Amino acid sequence: MSDTKPSKPFSELRAVDASDVLNITEAIKQAEALHSIKNAPQRAGALEATTEDLIEWCHGAKVGDRYWTACEQARWLVAEARNTWDEWEGPKALRDLFVSRFGGDNRPERKVSDLPAEKPPLLCADCKDQGSVWSGVKWVVCKCDTGRDLPTILLEVMNGVKSINKPAPPLPTQEEIDRIKEQQRQNRERKKADEESP
Ligand SMILES: [Zn+2]
Repeated sequence: MSDTKPSKPFSELRAVDASDVLNITEAIKQAEALHSIKNAPQRAGALEATTEDLIEWCHGAKVGDRYWTACEQARWLVAEARNTWDEWEGPKALRDLFVSRFGGDNRPERKVSDLPAEKPPLLCADCKDQGSVWSGVKWVVCKCDTGRDLPTILLEVMNGVKSINKPAPPLPTQEEIDRIKEQQRQNRERKKADEESP
């Protein structure tokens, strides 16, 4: 289905210039937790978009005397949304929540639109240097160098495999992962039940 095709490739995120960047595995984990909120979209594309937002927004910030790392920012945002939202309010509300705590101008400018003039020529026309190509069914790794470097977990997320199979420390405990999965399962069942009820 073409509507699950992400609009913006993950690899673009590597262009973000920041000393404190949310690590991709943590970003995916936090996005998954966010999408366990009632009525949050469950499509892979939606999860990916939220993951991108977290990485784009969280670059560490000084609030008062306290420095928040990118990771702490993401965890705060996700916990706050999960604790205060009765249901998914969307990416705009999530952004507003983030800005309400950390402000909106404390991240490095990311002007992708300004980049083309400096952008090097494409090395691979197949994947446009994104490392992944749409097979018509799912994302697959491109045969080029970028494809060879593409982390497997990105492909899994892009393809809607929502579990993180190879957690590395200091990642969530299996207990936490199970809890998240259980929440997701319950949400899906609730949603299914809602759809089936007249
Ligand atoms: Zn390629």
